[in-house]
Amino acid sequence: MKAEGKITGVIGGGLAGLISSILLAKQGLQVILLERKMYPFHRVCGEYISNEVLDFLKREGLYPEFLDLPQIKFFEFSDTDGKSVKIPLDLGGFGISRFVLDQWLVDQAVRLGVSVRTGCQVISVEFHENSDSFSIGLADHTAVHADFVIGAFGKRSKLDKVLHRPFIQKRSPYIGVKYHVKTDYVRDAVALHNFNGGYCGLNAIEDHQFNLCYLGSRDQLREFGTVEEMERQILWRNPILRKIFKESEFLFEKPEVINEINFEPKLPVENHILMAGDSAGLITPLCGNGMAMAIHSGKLAAEAITTGRSRKEIEKLYEKNWTGEFKQRLWVGRNVQRLFGSGGASVFARNLIERTPFFAKQIIKNTHGKPF
Ligand SMILES: Cc1cc2nc3c(=O)[nH]c(=O)nc-3n(C[C@H](O)[C@H](O)[C@H](O)COP(=O)(O)OP(=O)(O)OC[C@H]3O[C@@H](n4cnc5c(N)ncnc54)[C@H](O)[C@@H]3O)c2cc1C
Repeated sequence: MKAEGKITGVIGGGLAGLISSILLAKQGLQVILLERKMYPFHRVCGEYISNEVLDFLKREGLYPEFLDLPQIKFFEFSDTDGKSVKIPLDLGGFGISRFVLDQWLVDQAVRLGVSVRTGCQVISVEFHENSDSFSIGLADHTAVHADFVIGAFGKRSKLDKVLHRPFIQKRSPYIGVKYHVKTDYVRDAVALHNFNGGYCGLNAIEDHQFNLCYLGSRDQLREFGTVEEMERQILWRNPILRKIFKESEFLFEKPEVINEINFEPKLPVENHILMAGDSAGLITPLCGNGMAMAIHSGKLAAEAITTGRSRKEIEKLYEKNWTGEFKQRLWVGRNVQRLFGSGGASVFARNLIERTPFFAKQIIKNTHGKPF
């Protein structure tokens, strides 16, 4: 095996970074995981994970069996007027907060010998042809040497600018907002409630809590000045959302908010870096599939490094497998998003789900992968 005795530097400790690190460490390889934040922490994410990852997580001993996690079997959809429809999900999923999941995975990574360095921001990555290796520059002016690099630094990082990735030039009209709440809702369904300009998800996670997370509009936030006022003026026009916001107990002091959520296509290999998870492409959140894709692409990156016999072969293998698994899904996700976040389109989508559930299931199927 080409990778034996070599060091892999993994930039970013979200799902893609943690899974690739764990799998490489299981193969006896040396891994340094560089994460700019300190665990545990909250992230803007709907925290519904598709069951396509379930077999894999269980097989690898990475499913947190000790938690009583909600098993999600139904999908509820409401249009901007609050008219809703509910259908069963073929594959379904489960709910778990990233606060808990990422901490659980980082514990497994440390146990398996991954050198996890937190509070460690990467500011540059250079590939040196002469030595056929990388030097990873850190914010504290030190550098880490690595033979392979997995870029798992999420949907948007300062590193994208440093690496001159084209998507970073495009402004995004979206913001993401997340809360944990206690509310009166079933634990076996994931809901997507539309409002003018976006959509809001609701599903159970651990500890009798729920995740309430939406993709909204940067312009609306600017217009109304605060998140709270925007919610009252825009989200509350959907009566279901008004009820949820008025009657739930909010568990965070303030919401988690991010902007610049960009769904532009990206490349899976750049500057000899294997890009995994959102670094290779973010699927629109309505698909509820980004976390499964991050886990799966982390697995593909680790497999490419352990099986490829040369750098060229590793890159080719990863690019081929990544493209086969995800390119089409990302495209479908971008196009389906048009059916969300506006009055007419959301009514059309609700009618479609109600009258032709087969078609709705096909869309879900085309934005999801098979269990692996
Ligand atoms: C509003 C919204 C709702 C969503 N809901 C869902 C859902 O319900 N289900 C689902 O499956 N997916 C959902 N997603 C998508 C999902 O959150 C992502 O696809 C997933 O988190 C990607 O994981 P990742 O490992 O690629 O990136 P991340 O989890 O973002 O991890 C990247 C890590 O890299 C670190 N980092 C960044 N730059 C640097 C640097 N320079 N140096 C060191 N570290 C760095 C970051 O701190 C971060 O920890 C949603 C996304 C949004 C925006």
